[in-house]
Amino acid sequence: MQGSSTVSLWDETSEEVCQGASMKADVTTDLAIVGGGYTGLSTALHAAEKGLDACVLEAHQIGYGGSGRNVGLVNAGLWLPPQDVRAKLGGEPGARLVDILGDGPNCVMSLIERYQIRCELTRSGTIHAAHSQSGFKDLARRAEEWTRLGAPVRLLSRDETAEKIGSSAFHGGLLDARAGTINPMGYVRGLARAAQAAGARIHTGAAVTRLEKQAGGWLLETGAGVVRAKSVVLATNAYSDDLWPGLKSSFVPIHYFQVATVPLGARVQDILPERQGIWDTGKIMFSLRRDAADRLIIGSMGSVVGGEKGLSERWAARQLKRLFPDLGPVEFEKSWHGQIAMTGDHLPRIHRLDEGLYTPIGYNGRGIAPGTVFGKAMAELLAGGSEADLPMPVTGVRTEAARGLKAGFYQAAFAANQMLKSL
Ligand SMILES: Cc1cc2nc3c(=O)[nH]c(=O)nc-3n(C[C@H](O)[C@H](O)[C@H](O)COP(=O)(O)OP(=O)(O)OC[C@H]3O[C@@H](n4cnc5c(N)ncnc54)[C@H](O)[C@@H]3O)c2cc1C
Repeated sequence: MQGSSTVSLWDETSEEVCQGASMKADVTTDLAIVGGGYTGLSTALHAAEKGLDACVLEAHQIGYGGSGRNVGLVNAGLWLPPQDVRAKLGGEPGARLVDILGDGPNCVMSLIERYQIRCELTRSGTIHAAHSQSGFKDLARRAEEWTRLGAPVRLLSRDETAEKIGSSAFHGGLLDARAGTINPMGYVRGLARAAQAAGARIHTGAAVTRLEKQAGGWLLETGAGVVRAKSVVLATNAYSDDLWPGLKSSFVPIHYFQVATVPLGARVQDILPERQGIWDTGKIMFSLRRDAADRLIIGSMGSVVGGEKGLSERWAARQLKRLFPDLGPVEFEKSWHGQIAMTGDHLPRIHRLDEGLYTPIGYNGRGIAPGTVFGKAMAELLAGGSEADLPMPVTGVRTEAARGLKAGFYQAAFAANQMLKSL
Protein backbone atom coordinates (compact mmCIF):
# COMPACT_ATOMS: atom_id res chain seq x y z
CA MET A 1 0.00 0.00 0.00
CA GLN A 2 1.30 3.41 -0.82
CA GLY A 3 -0.09 6.92 -0.77
CA SER A 4 -1.39 9.19 1.95
CA SER A 5 -3.70 6.51 3.40
CA THR A 6 -0.59 4.89 4.92
CA VAL A 7 0.28 7.99 6.97
CA SER A 8 -1.73 8.05 10.17
CA LEU A 9 -3.02 10.94 12.23
CA TRP A 10 -0.65 9.72 14.97
CA ASP A 11 2.30 10.41 12.70
CA GLU A 12 1.39 14.07 12.84
CA THR A 13 0.21 14.37 16.45
CA SER A 14 2.84 12.28 18.27
CA GLU A 15 4.83 14.37 20.73
CA GLU A 16 7.63 11.83 20.59
CA VAL A 17 9.86 12.46 17.57
CA CYS A 18 11.18 10.05 14.91
CA GLN A 19 14.07 7.86 16.03
CA GLY A 20 16.80 5.94 14.23
CA ALA A 21 19.37 6.72 11.57
CA SER A 22 20.44 5.22 8.27
CA MET A 23 23.12 2.54 8.29
CA LYS A 24 26.58 3.85 7.47
CA ALA A 25 28.72 0.73 7.90
CA ASP A 26 28.48 -3.04 8.33
CA VAL A 27 27.43 -4.15 11.81
CA THR A 28 28.32 -7.11 14.02
CA THR A 29 25.92 -7.66 16.90
CA ASP A 30 24.54 -10.22 19.34
CA LEU A 31 20.95 -9.77 18.22
CA ALA A 32 19.53 -8.40 14.98
CA ILE A 33 15.86 -7.44 15.02
CA VAL A 34 13.99 -6.96 11.76
CA GLY A 35 11.06 -4.54 12.16
CA GLY A 36 10.67 -1.31 14.14
CA GLY A 37 7.26 -1.78 15.80
CA TYR A 38 6.28 -2.72 19.36
CA THR A 39 7.59 -6.28 19.07
CA GLY A 40 10.97 -5.30 17.64
CA LEU A 41 11.54 -2.34 19.93
CA SER A 42 10.41 -4.12 23.08
CA THR A 43 12.83 -6.91 22.14
CA ALA A 44 15.60 -4.35 21.59
CA LEU A 45 14.93 -2.41 24.79
CA HIS A 46 14.78 -5.45 27.04
CA ALA A 47 17.74 -7.12 25.32
CA ALA A 48 19.88 -3.98 25.73
CA GLU A 49 18.86 -3.80 29.39
CA LYS A 50 20.08 -7.37 29.78
CA GLY A 51 23.47 -6.39 28.37
CA LEU A 52 23.02 -7.73 24.82
CA ASP A 53 24.20 -5.72 21.86
CA ALA A 54 21.01 -5.28 19.82
CA CYS A 55 20.45 -3.75 16.40
CA VAL A 56 17.01 -2.96 14.92
CA LEU A 57 16.65 -2.86 11.14
CA GLU A 58 13.49 -1.13 9.91
CA ALA A 59 12.70 -0.90 6.20
CA HIS A 60 10.90 2.45 6.45
CA GLN A 61 10.63 4.45 9.67
CA ILE A 62 9.77 3.55 13.26
CA GLY A 63 6.06 2.79 13.50
CA TYR A 64 5.60 2.33 9.75
CA GLY A 65 3.58 -0.87 10.31
CA GLY A 66 0.60 -1.52 12.56
CA SER A 67 2.36 0.10 15.52
CA GLY A 68 2.05 3.61 14.08
CA ARG A 69 -1.43 3.21 12.60
CA ASN A 70 -3.64 1.44 15.13
CA VAL A 71 -6.59 2.57 17.24
CA GLY A 72 -4.53 2.82 20.42
CA LEU A 73 -6.68 0.55 22.60
CA VAL A 74 -4.28 -0.99 25.11
CA ASN A 75 -6.38 -4.04 25.86
CA ALA A 76 -5.84 -7.05 28.10
CA GLY A 77 -5.93 -10.62 26.77
CA LEU A 78 -6.71 -11.53 23.18
CA TRP A 79 -9.69 -11.27 20.82
CA LEU A 80 -10.93 -14.59 22.12
CA PRO A 81 -12.42 -14.87 25.60
CA PRO A 82 -10.11 -16.65 28.10
CA GLN A 83 -12.09 -19.91 28.02
CA ASP A 84 -11.72 -20.09 24.21
CA VAL A 85 -7.98 -19.45 24.43
CA ARG A 86 -7.68 -22.38 26.84
CA ALA A 87 -9.87 -24.58 24.60
CA LYS A 88 -7.73 -23.85 21.51
CA LEU A 89 -4.28 -23.83 23.08
CA GLY A 90 -4.80 -26.50 25.72
CA GLY A 91 -5.68 -25.97 29.38
CA GLU A 92 -2.30 -25.23 30.93
CA PRO A 93 -0.60 -23.24 28.13
CA GLY A 94 -3.89 -21.43 27.47
CA ALA A 95 -4.28 -20.43 31.11
CA ARG A 96 -0.68 -19.24 31.19
CA LEU A 97 -1.11 -17.07 28.07
CA VAL A 98 -4.36 -15.59 29.43
CA ASP A 99 -2.63 -14.80 32.69
CA ILE A 100 0.40 -13.18 31.05
CA LEU A 101 -1.65 -11.12 28.56
CA GLY A 102 -4.17 -10.20 31.24
CA ASP A 103 -1.29 -8.25 32.74
CA GLY A 104 -0.28 -6.89 29.29
CA PRO A 105 -1.63 -3.35 29.74
CA ASN A 106 0.26 -3.11 33.02
CA CYS A 107 3.47 -4.04 31.18
CA VAL A 108 2.82 -1.29 28.59
CA MET A 109 1.83 1.33 31.15
CA SER A 110 4.84 0.57 33.36
CA LEU A 111 7.18 1.15 30.41
CA ILE A 112 5.37 4.40 29.55
CA GLU A 113 5.85 5.54 33.12
CA ARG A 114 9.43 4.33 33.52
CA TYR A 115 10.62 6.00 30.31
CA GLN A 116 8.25 8.97 30.51
CA ILE A 117 6.90 8.17 27.05
CA ARG A 118 4.74 11.04 25.83
CA CYS A 119 1.86 9.14 24.25
CA GLU A 120 -1.33 10.64 25.71
CA LEU A 121 -1.92 7.62 27.97
CA THR A 122 -5.40 7.35 29.51
CA ARG A 123 -6.02 4.75 32.20
CA SER A 124 -9.81 4.80 32.47
CA GLY A 125 -10.27 1.45 30.76
CA THR A 126 -11.83 0.46 27.44
CA ILE A 127 -15.38 -0.62 26.64
CA HIS A 128 -16.41 -3.56 24.47
CA ALA A 129 -19.86 -2.39 23.40
CA ALA A 130 -22.75 -4.72 22.53
CA HIS A 131 -24.23 -4.02 19.09
CA SER A 132 -27.10 -6.48 19.74
CA GLN A 133 -28.67 -8.67 22.42
CA SER A 134 -26.55 -11.60 21.28
CA GLY A 135 -23.48 -9.36 21.48
CA PHE A 136 -24.43 -8.59 25.07
CA LYS A 137 -24.67 -12.33 25.82
CA ASP A 138 -21.15 -12.75 24.49
CA LEU A 139 -19.96 -9.93 26.77
CA ALA A 140 -21.68 -11.53 29.77
CA ARG A 141 -19.83 -14.77 29.04
CA ARG A 142 -16.52 -12.87 28.86
CA ALA A 143 -17.32 -10.93 32.03
CA GLU A 144 -18.12 -14.09 33.97
CA GLU A 145 -14.84 -15.76 33.10
CA TRP A 146 -12.63 -12.69 33.61
CA THR A 147 -14.34 -12.08 36.96
CA ARG A 148 -13.72 -15.69 37.97
CA LEU A 149 -10.05 -15.05 37.15
CA GLY A 150 -10.06 -11.97 39.40
CA ALA A 151 -9.83 -9.35 36.63
CA PRO A 152 -11.35 -5.89 37.27
CA VAL A 153 -14.02 -6.04 34.54
CA ARG A 154 -17.62 -4.89 34.90
CA LEU A 155 -20.67 -5.57 32.77
CA LEU A 156 -22.45 -2.29 32.05
CA SER A 157 -26.21 -2.00 31.66
CA ARG A 158 -27.71 -0.31 28.62
CA ASP A 159 -28.10 2.94 30.59
CA GLU A 160 -24.60 2.87 32.06
CA THR A 161 -23.17 2.24 28.59
CA ALA A 162 -25.18 5.13 27.16
CA GLU A 163 -23.82 7.42 29.86
CA LYS A 164 -20.19 6.39 29.35
CA ILE A 165 -20.32 6.55 25.54
CA GLY A 166 -22.82 9.36 25.12
CA SER A 167 -24.90 7.23 22.76
CA SER A 168 -27.96 5.07 23.27
CA ALA A 169 -27.05 2.82 20.32
CA PHE A 170 -25.68 -0.03 22.42
CA HIS A 171 -27.28 -2.91 24.31
CA GLY A 172 -24.72 -2.80 27.11
CA GLY A 173 -20.95 -2.99 27.47
CA LEU A 174 -17.98 -4.57 29.19
CA LEU A 175 -15.68 -2.12 30.95
CA ASP A 176 -12.16 -3.38 31.52
CA ALA A 177 -10.33 -1.29 34.10
CA ARG A 178 -6.95 -2.81 33.21
CA ALA A 179 -7.02 -1.17 29.78
CA GLY A 180 -6.45 2.35 28.45
CA THR A 181 -5.67 4.33 25.33
CA ILE A 182 -2.49 5.76 23.83
CA ASN A 183 -1.26 7.70 20.86
CA PRO A 184 0.17 4.56 19.20
CA MET A 185 2.94 6.37 17.30
CA GLY A 186 3.97 8.19 20.47
CA TYR A 187 4.35 4.86 22.26
CA VAL A 188 6.39 3.17 19.52
CA ARG A 189 8.70 6.18 19.08
CA GLY A 190 9.08 6.36 22.87
CA LEU A 191 10.06 2.68 22.97
CA ALA A 192 12.66 3.40 20.27
CA ARG A 193 14.03 6.33 22.30
CA ALA A 194 14.26 4.13 25.41
CA ALA A 195 15.91 1.28 23.47
CA GLN A 196 18.54 3.64 22.05
CA ALA A 197 19.20 5.12 25.48
CA ALA A 198 19.75 1.57 26.77
CA GLY A 199 22.37 1.04 24.06
CA ALA A 200 20.46 -0.54 21.15
CA ARG A 201 21.21 0.62 17.62
CA ILE A 202 18.27 1.53 15.40
CA HIS A 203 18.65 1.77 11.65
CA THR A 204 15.75 3.04 9.56
CA GLY A 205 15.45 2.87 5.77
CA ALA A 206 17.18 -0.51 6.18
CA ALA A 207 15.08 -3.14 4.40
CA VAL A 208 16.56 -6.58 4.97
CA THR A 209 16.58 -8.30 1.61
CA ARG A 210 18.44 -11.52 2.43
CA LEU A 211 18.81 -13.64 5.53
CA GLU A 212 21.36 -16.43 5.48
CA LYS A 213 22.54 -18.86 8.10
CA GLN A 214 26.31 -18.86 8.63
CA ALA A 215 28.70 -20.53 11.02
CA GLY A 216 27.91 -19.15 14.48
CA GLY A 217 24.95 -17.03 13.45
CA TRP A 218 23.18 -15.13 10.70
CA LEU A 219 23.96 -12.70 7.92
CA LEU A 220 21.40 -10.05 7.04
CA GLU A 221 21.79 -8.05 3.87
CA THR A 222 20.42 -4.52 3.49
CA GLY A 223 20.92 -1.98 0.74
CA ALA A 224 23.28 -0.04 3.00
CA GLY A 225 25.44 -2.86 4.33
CA VAL A 226 25.40 -6.24 6.04
CA VAL A 227 24.70 -7.22 9.63
CA ARG A 228 26.23 -10.29 11.29
CA ALA A 229 24.33 -11.50 14.34
CA LYS A 230 24.34 -14.49 16.67
CA SER A 231 20.53 -14.48 16.79
CA VAL A 232 17.70 -12.85 14.87
CA VAL A 233 14.12 -11.89 15.72
CA LEU A 234 11.81 -11.23 12.80
CA ALA A 235 9.35 -8.67 14.21
CA THR A 236 7.56 -7.98 10.95
CA ASN A 237 4.07 -9.33 11.79
CA ALA A 238 1.45 -8.29 9.18
CA TYR A 239 4.13 -6.49 7.14
CA SER A 240 6.20 -9.65 6.64
CA ASP A 241 7.56 -9.91 3.11
CA ASP A 242 9.40 -12.73 1.34
CA LEU A 243 12.50 -12.51 3.55
CA TRP A 244 11.72 -15.87 5.15
CA PRO A 245 10.00 -18.15 2.63
CA GLY A 246 6.48 -19.07 3.65
CA LEU A 247 6.24 -16.74 6.65
CA LYS A 248 3.72 -14.37 5.12
CA SER A 249 1.58 -17.34 4.10
CA SER A 250 1.03 -18.15 7.77
CA PHE A 251 -1.65 -15.47 8.17
CA VAL A 252 -4.39 -13.75 6.21
CA PRO A 253 -3.71 -10.02 5.74
CA ILE A 254 -6.77 -7.87 6.38
CA HIS A 255 -7.09 -4.11 6.54
CA TYR A 256 -8.53 -1.73 9.12
CA PHE A 257 -9.20 1.94 8.37
CA GLN A 258 -9.81 4.99 10.52
CA VAL A 259 -11.16 8.46 9.90
CA ALA A 260 -10.43 11.38 12.26
CA THR A 261 -12.46 14.56 12.64
CA VAL A 262 -10.84 17.91 13.27
CA PRO A 263 -10.68 18.85 17.00
CA LEU A 264 -14.29 19.33 18.10
CA GLY A 265 -13.80 21.04 21.48
CA ALA A 266 -16.86 21.40 23.71
CA ARG A 267 -19.10 19.77 21.07
CA VAL A 268 -17.85 16.36 22.22
CA GLN A 269 -17.80 16.91 25.98
CA ASP A 270 -20.59 14.35 26.47
CA ILE A 271 -19.06 11.79 24.12
CA LEU A 272 -16.77 9.34 25.93
CA PRO A 273 -16.47 11.84 28.80
CA GLU A 274 -14.06 9.54 30.69
CA ARG A 275 -12.12 8.95 27.43
CA GLN A 276 -12.44 5.17 27.24
CA GLY A 277 -11.90 3.83 23.73
CA ILE A 278 -14.57 1.44 22.45
CA TRP A 279 -15.07 -1.31 19.90
CA ASP A 280 -18.24 -3.24 19.26
CA THR A 281 -19.34 -6.87 19.09
CA GLY A 282 -20.41 -6.70 15.42
CA LYS A 283 -18.91 -9.29 13.04
CA ILE A 284 -17.44 -6.41 11.03
CA MET A 285 -16.52 -4.44 14.10
CA PHE A 286 -16.01 -0.72 14.42
CA SER A 287 -14.02 1.34 16.93
CA LEU A 288 -14.38 4.84 18.32
CA ARG A 289 -12.23 7.00 20.55
CA ARG A 290 -11.48 10.58 21.41
CA ASP A 291 -7.90 11.84 21.29
CA ALA A 292 -6.19 14.39 23.53
CA ALA A 293 -7.21 17.23 21.18
CA ASP A 294 -10.89 16.15 21.21
CA ARG A 295 -10.97 14.66 17.73
CA LEU A 296 -13.30 11.70 17.27
CA ILE A 297 -11.60 8.80 15.54
CA ILE A 298 -13.85 6.15 14.10
CA GLY A 299 -12.76 3.05 12.19
CA SER A 300 -13.74 -0.35 10.90
CA MET A 301 -12.43 -3.31 8.97
CA GLY A 302 -11.36 -2.59 5.39
CA SER A 303 -9.31 0.03 3.54
CA VAL A 304 -9.82 3.73 2.94
CA VAL A 305 -11.97 3.82 -0.19
CA GLY A 306 -12.03 6.78 -2.55
CA GLY A 307 -9.20 8.82 -0.95
CA GLU A 308 -9.84 12.21 0.61
CA LYS A 309 -13.57 13.02 0.79
CA GLY A 310 -14.38 9.56 -0.55
CA LEU A 311 -16.56 6.69 0.65
CA SER A 312 -14.78 6.23 3.98
CA GLU A 313 -15.55 9.79 5.07
CA ARG A 314 -19.18 9.31 4.09
CA TRP A 315 -19.22 6.10 6.12
CA ALA A 316 -17.72 7.93 9.12
CA ALA A 317 -20.20 10.81 8.85
CA ARG A 318 -23.09 8.35 8.65
CA GLN A 319 -21.90 6.34 11.67
CA LEU A 320 -21.33 9.44 13.80
CA LYS A 321 -24.82 10.66 12.92
CA ARG A 322 -26.27 7.27 13.88
CA LEU A 323 -24.43 7.19 17.21
CA PHE A 324 -24.71 10.87 18.11
CA PRO A 325 -27.75 12.39 16.38
CA ASP A 326 -27.25 15.71 18.20
CA LEU A 327 -23.64 16.19 17.15
CA GLY A 328 -24.38 17.75 13.78
CA PRO A 329 -22.11 17.74 10.71
CA VAL A 330 -18.38 17.41 11.36
CA GLU A 331 -15.28 18.09 9.31
CA PHE A 332 -12.70 15.34 8.83
CA GLU A 333 -8.97 15.87 8.66
CA LYS A 334 -7.39 12.46 8.09
CA SER A 335 -8.13 8.92 6.96
CA TRP A 336 -5.68 6.03 6.86
CA HIS A 337 -5.47 2.26 7.05
CA GLY A 338 -3.12 -0.49 8.09
CA GLN A 339 -2.69 -4.23 7.84
CA ILE A 340 -3.58 -6.89 10.42
CA ALA A 341 -2.23 -10.47 10.50
CA MET A 342 -5.18 -12.78 11.09
CA THR A 343 -4.65 -16.45 11.90
CA GLY A 344 -7.16 -19.25 11.40
CA ASP A 345 -7.69 -19.82 15.14
CA HIS A 346 -7.26 -16.13 16.13
CA LEU A 347 -4.27 -16.98 18.30
CA PRO A 348 -0.82 -15.43 17.90
CA ARG A 349 2.22 -17.61 17.40
CA ILE A 350 5.85 -17.74 18.37
CA HIS A 351 7.74 -19.62 15.68
CA ARG A 352 11.27 -20.95 15.87
CA LEU A 353 12.24 -20.74 12.20
CA ASP A 354 15.74 -22.13 12.69
CA GLU A 355 18.46 -22.17 15.28
CA GLY A 356 18.67 -18.69 16.81
CA LEU A 357 15.89 -17.35 14.56
CA TYR A 358 12.47 -16.58 16.05
CA THR A 359 9.34 -14.69 15.09
CA PRO A 360 6.36 -13.68 17.24
CA ILE A 361 3.52 -13.11 14.77
CA GLY A 362 -0.25 -13.12 14.15
CA TYR A 363 -1.63 -10.73 16.75
CA ASN A 364 -5.06 -10.63 15.04
CA GLY A 365 -5.41 -6.87 15.61
CA ARG A 366 -4.56 -7.08 19.31
CA GLY A 367 -0.85 -6.31 19.37
CA ILE A 368 -0.06 -3.31 21.55
CA ALA A 369 0.24 -5.24 24.78
CA PRO A 370 0.97 -8.69 23.24
CA GLY A 371 3.73 -7.24 20.99
CA THR A 372 5.32 -5.53 23.98
CA VAL A 373 5.06 -8.67 26.12
CA PHE A 374 6.29 -11.05 23.39
CA GLY A 375 9.21 -8.72 22.62
CA LYS A 376 10.26 -8.75 26.26
CA ALA A 377 9.98 -12.54 26.29
CA MET A 378 12.16 -12.79 23.14
CA ALA A 379 14.85 -10.70 24.87
CA GLU A 380 14.75 -12.91 27.96
CA LEU A 381 15.04 -16.05 25.81
CA LEU A 382 17.95 -14.77 23.74
CA ALA A 383 19.76 -13.49 26.81
CA GLY A 384 20.07 -17.10 27.97
CA GLY A 385 16.52 -17.98 29.00
CA SER A 386 14.51 -21.05 28.15
CA GLU A 387 11.82 -21.58 25.53
CA ALA A 388 9.70 -23.11 28.29
CA ASP A 389 9.40 -19.64 29.85
CA LEU A 390 7.94 -18.02 26.72
CA PRO A 391 4.29 -16.84 26.98
CA MET A 392 3.18 -19.64 24.66
CA PRO A 393 4.65 -22.81 23.17
CA VAL A 394 7.01 -22.42 20.23
CA THR A 395 5.78 -23.89 16.94
CA GLY A 396 6.89 -24.21 13.31
CA VAL A 397 5.23 -22.24 10.50
CA ARG A 398 1.95 -23.55 9.09
CA THR A 399 0.51 -22.21 5.86
CA GLU A 400 -2.92 -20.63 6.15
CA ALA A 401 -5.08 -22.46 3.60
CA ALA A 402 -6.49 -20.40 0.69
CA ARG A 403 -4.85 -17.26 2.05
CA GLY A 404 -5.19 -15.21 -1.12
CA LEU A 405 -8.83 -16.19 -1.60
CA LYS A 406 -9.69 -15.34 2.00
CA ALA A 407 -7.90 -11.98 1.83
CA GLY A 408 -9.77 -11.10 -1.39
CA PHE A 409 -13.09 -12.22 0.07
CA TYR A 410 -12.66 -10.13 3.24
CA GLN A 411 -11.55 -7.08 1.29
CA ALA A 412 -14.65 -7.28 -0.93
CA ALA A 413 -16.98 -7.90 2.06
CA PHE A 414 -15.51 -4.97 4.00
CA ALA A 415 -15.82 -2.62 1.01
CA ALA A 416 -19.46 -3.67 0.49
CA ASN A 417 -20.15 -3.12 4.19
CA GLN A 418 -18.61 0.37 4.00
CA MET A 419 -20.71 1.19 0.99
CA LEU A 420 -23.96 -0.07 2.54
CA LYS A 421 -23.37 1.69 5.84
CA SER A 422 -22.54 5.02 4.20
CA LEU A 423 -26.01 5.32 2.65
C1 LIG B 1 -5.51 -0.12 11.80
C2 LIG B 1 -5.10 -1.01 12.93
C3 LIG B 1 -5.73 -0.90 14.16
C4 LIG B 1 -5.30 -1.67 15.24
N1 LIG B 1 -5.80 -1.41 16.49
C5 LIG B 1 -5.24 -2.01 17.57
C6 LIG B 1 -5.63 -1.63 18.89
O1 LIG B 1 -6.42 -0.72 19.10
N2 LIG B 1 -5.08 -2.33 19.93
C7 LIG B 1 -4.16 -3.31 19.75
O2 LIG B 1 -3.69 -3.90 20.73
N3 LIG B 1 -3.73 -3.64 18.50
C8 LIG B 1 -4.23 -3.01 17.43
N4 LIG B 1 -3.79 -3.32 16.17
C9 LIG B 1 -2.72 -4.32 16.03
C10 LIG B 1 -1.35 -3.76 16.35
O3 LIG B 1 -1.19 -2.48 15.79
C11 LIG B 1 -0.27 -4.70 15.81
O4 LIG B 1 -0.54 -6.01 16.23
C12 LIG B 1 1.10 -4.31 16.30
O5 LIG B 1 1.39 -2.98 15.94
C13 LIG B 1 2.17 -5.26 15.73
O6 LIG B 1 3.41 -4.74 16.09
P1 LIG B 1 4.71 -5.37 15.47
O7 LIG B 1 5.86 -4.65 16.05
O8 LIG B 1 4.71 -6.85 15.66
O9 LIG B 1 4.59 -5.14 13.91
P2 LIG B 1 4.52 -3.77 13.07
O10 LIG B 1 4.27 -2.61 13.92
O11 LIG B 1 3.58 -3.99 11.95
O12 LIG B 1 5.99 -3.61 12.53
C14 LIG B 1 6.53 -4.45 11.53
C15 LIG B 1 7.64 -3.66 10.87
O13 LIG B 1 8.46 -4.54 10.11
C16 LIG B 1 8.98 -3.79 9.04
N5 LIG B 1 9.50 -4.74 8.04
C17 LIG B 1 8.81 -5.69 7.35
N6 LIG B 1 9.66 -6.37 6.53
C18 LIG B 1 10.90 -5.85 6.72
C19 LIG B 1 12.19 -6.13 6.16
N7 LIG B 1 12.37 -7.10 5.24
N8 LIG B 1 13.25 -5.39 6.57
C20 LIG B 1 13.09 -4.41 7.50
N9 LIG B 1 11.90 -4.10 8.05
C21 LIG B 1 10.81 -4.82 7.67
C22 LIG B 1 7.80 -2.97 8.57
O14 LIG B 1 8.21 -1.83 7.82
C23 LIG B 1 7.13 -2.60 9.89
O15 LIG B 1 7.49 -1.31 10.36
C24 LIG B 1 -4.24 -2.62 15.07
C25 LIG B 1 -3.65 -2.77 13.81
C26 LIG B 1 -4.06 -1.98 12.75
C27 LIG B 1 -3.39 -2.12 11.42
